[in-house]
Amino acid sequence: MVLNELGQSIAKALEGIKTANTIDDKVLDACLKDICTALLQADINVKLVMKLRTNVKTRANNADKGAGLDKRKIIEKAVVDELIAMVDSGGDVKTVELKKGQSNVIMFVGLQGCGKTTTASKYGAFHKKKGFKPALVCADTFRAGAFDQLKQNASKTQIPFYGSYTETDPAIIAAQGVEKFKKEKRDLIIVDTSGRHKQEEALFEEMRQVAESVQPTLVIFTMDGSIGQAAFDQAKAFRDSVEVGAVIVTKMDGHAKGGGALSAVAATQAPIAFIGTGEHMDEFERFEAKAFVGRLLGRGDWKGFVNKIQDAVPEEHMQEDMMKDIGKGNFTLRILYEQLANIQKMGPVSQVMSMIPGLSNSTMFDQGNEKESARRIKGFMTIMDSMTNKELDSNNPKLLTEPSRMVRISQGSGRHPGEVTALLTEYQRIRTMIVGSGKHPGMMKNMPRAM
Ligand code: GDP
Repeated sequence: MVLNELGQSIAKALEGIKTANTIDDKVLDACLKDICTALLQADINVKLVMKLRTNVKTRANNADKGAGLDKRKIIEKAVVDELIAMVDSGGDVKTVELKKGQSNVIMFVGLQGCGKTTTASKYGAFHKKKGFKPALVCADTFRAGAFDQLKQNASKTQIPFYGSYTETDPAIIAAQGVEKFKKEKRDLIIVDTSGRHKQEEALFEEMRQVAESVQPTLVIFTMDGSIGQAAFDQAKAFRDSVEVGAVIVTKMDGHAKGGGALSAVAATQAPIAFIGTGEHMDEFERFEAKAFVGRLLGRGDWKGFVNKIQDAVPEEHMQEDMMKDIGKGNFTLRILYEQLANIQKMGPVSQVMSMIPGLSNSTMFDQGNEKESARRIKGFMTIMDSMTNKELDSNNPKLLTEPSRMVRISQGSGRHPGEVTALLTEYQRIRTMIVGSGKHPGMMKNMPRAM
């Protein structure tokens, strides 16, 4: 993901502050210069970049006035806060209000090629995992092949669909589809509408007609993140034409302009609800400004991670007990095993790992080498398969280091003793980070809120 490079540059600039002996204007200016250059290269609007610069400088200067204040921390926090503000629209995402069992009608709008049809299906699949009963209606009569594409995605995700090869009026198809699925008690009826190559009155008129005929609960505007700053005008034009309740920015994978698009959409105060991060159905995630910036800078975010687990694992498989256990300060090997099993279901390992504080630098993960990371995880899980219940459920890490146990586990699992030691070392490290050691509190203090 190219955005990672932006995150790395900013993190590196902040490192400069941390390692400097004293923080004078020269050090701060050099740090801000690097951050601003990185942001401009990522296509962030120059006015927003300058605003960040001014605000961070003001907060740093204020820190000088207060005796005993840790200037490093203040600057670091100011940069993070400003980055969050840059991608946070502050808008009210209506998506969270959808209620199961009611006939929610969601209308997707956007320009042609932005990823609307793909995203409509991803959105259906996402909510299916959450226990909704989605259905897809193809009201795109403008683009040849739109219905076939929707049918294909719908079959892949096993979501019922409706469309017509002969009817040419999108408002009629939309109304027929919505009526059919309402009768079938589907509670998330997703209507995919036509796009156009550019914003034009014919498109907006058609959108209004479809909206009139289906009376949507929520209109979702989908836009292509690779257009960068141009997203501002597009988001504004759509918001001015229809009542957009949420925005989804697609193609955030591997595109340098993704940051520009996010900040531009946020500047229109349109609430960004999700981002698309690839062509596959599960490359789709909720967007939260704080979690996004945390990951960008290589810092974990518990809330983002817990959300990711909840989104990836179907509701009936959610291990609430496990989450409660971690919340209480128990972190056993069984919990680590279950976490690793979840990570395997969640898609790209590195992406998931970057959400867990401290785990992005785990020896389990070979950065940028998904296959190798998956292989290491599998190896660790095989070792844990050879452990007894007592070992898996022990909250006493010393028990595991008894040599006789380690030899037995190594022989039983057929893995090299060095690998067993590596697993236990890694477990200890993660455990200390989460539960804390005698001297230092772990991350538990943040957990209950995140839960
Ligand atoms: P529509 O014309 O707006 O309905 O767009 P489509 O759904 O047909 O998508 C256009 C192209 O963008 C297709 O090749 C999709 O696979 C691709 N696409 C959609 N979303 C994403 C995404 O998040 N990342 C990437 N890389 N490609 C995407």
